[in-house]
Amino acid sequence: MSQSEVKIPGKAEEPGEGQELYAARKKIYPRSVAGIFANLRVLGVALTQFVFYVFPWLVWNDRPMMLFDLVHRKFYVFGYVFFPQDFIYLTGVLVISALALFLFTAVAGRIWCGYACPQTVYTEIFMWIERAIEGDRVKQMKLDKAPWTLRKIGLKTAKQSAWLAVALWTGFTFVGFFTPIRELAHEFVTFSMGPWETFWVFFYGFATYGFAGHMREQVCLYMCPYARFQSVMFDPDTLIITYDEKRGEPRGQRKKGADYKADGKGDCVDCGICVQVCPTGIDIRKGLQYECIGCAACIDGCNQVMDKVGYPRGLIRYSTENVILGKFPERSMVAHVFRPRVLLYAAILGAITVALGVALYMRTPLKANIIRDRTNLVRETDEGLLENVYRMQIINMDEKPHRYTLTASGIKDLKVTTNVAQPLEVGPASTRVVSMGLIADPADLKPGSIPVHIKLQDIDNPGISANEKTSFLVR
Ligand code: SF4
Ligand code: SF4
Repeated sequence: MSQSEVKIPGKAEEPGEGQELYAARKKIYPRSVAGIFANLRVLGVALTQFVFYVFPWLVWNDRPMMLFDLVHRKFYVFGYVFFPQDFIYLTGVLVISALALFLFTAVAGRIWCGYACPQTVYTEIFMWIERAIEGDRVKQMKLDKAPWTLRKIGLKTAKQSAWLAVALWTGFTFVGFFTPIRELAHEFVTFSMGPWETFWVFFYGFATYGFAGHMREQVCLYMCPYARFQSVMFDPDTLIITYDEKRGEPRGQRKKGADYKADGKGDCVDCGICVQVCPTGIDIRKGLQYECIGCAACIDGCNQVMDKVGYPRGLIRYSTENVILGKFPERSMVAHVFRPRVLLYAAILGAITVALGVALYMRTPLKANIIRDRTNLVRETDEGLLENVYRMQIINMDEKPHRYTLTASGIKDLKVTTNVAQPLEVGPASTRVVSMGLIADPADLKPGSIPVHIKLQDIDNPGISANEKTSFLVR
């Protein structure tokens, strides 16, 4: 059952007849909130932004630790140099990412949206700046309603400037993953960045400013495709954020010290804090809604209220559809995490991760590509022998220079010649193209195509070699 189909108490009404198709955006002023989930969001921001802002500056083997050098078609990631021929590893990483998303969504719903999605993270950062300059929710609302005074102009200018500075720094850092960031910094301050670098710094910066500063929840509600299809990964045992209607209703304000239960009231004091802290402006008490990004701010907000009025925490909490519908008690929720679907995702994810790790560990830092010279398929040498000519591309994926020898087999007394002297030296993380000839005695050959094997052997490291198959043509 999808998230939008879940029938739980208080489920929000679906759009019906007579409903406006276009609604003007009402600005949302989320109230700041403290609590365990707010701390987890801070941790999410800290971890993701440490990777984003710090990694491009770190050095490994005298070069950036993480650099996707598109111009030279080399990707540097920690101690590895990847070439376009290593596409299989990228495929592995993408498959792992997709499976991890399936797994985490099946277990914990929109945990990615709530804690690690760039839109959530940058909106959070921009809201911290906004609160630091303009104050919390009520002050922001008052300021927006107030006439333009010098103070308001000053505060708004300060906020916009701080936002623009963070956005520009974000755009600069993004480009720093594709161009060595120290060189980029020099070009940035001397106004000598190339046209593409300039475009992407400002484009990415502008997108960050627009999405996190102004569009905020609208990106999640109207633009994000994941918000639309993630519900198909939910099942009745997926963790969702829910309001305990049985415990909370009938909601209502009450006098301090009054026996509200005797008055027929539930635990919800109808303070509206859960709505005020919500970054998408929804009321979780109406039930599960697709607008809920799973940030858990309403849990923290309501827990604060429960503490204040002396009621048990957890009126809004993580739960599952099956628990809400009373199919099993809350205490057995954890046991239901280990259901077949989750175990299958985990097993496939584990297997692919191990396979990728082993493949990376055993990766030979040498690749060879052989292409036949089409202009000169077979030629006869002065000695009356037959020669086939090829173009050989040698890719040294190591960050040290290597020397290789070239041998061939498959035909009796097959000789290898190259247009440069052997051993063939190839610089660190470099590619070298050599012209290679295979020479054989026609007396040993029958007309047609004969398979031959070419071996490129590192002369200093016996464990490093590359074997390629090609064919020898005989007229
Ligand atoms: S309803 Fe709660 S969990 Fe959902 S977006 Fe709003 S505050 Fe976050
Ligand atoms: S924060 Fe809790 S008590 Fe206050 S309105 Fe929301 S659910 Fe009710």
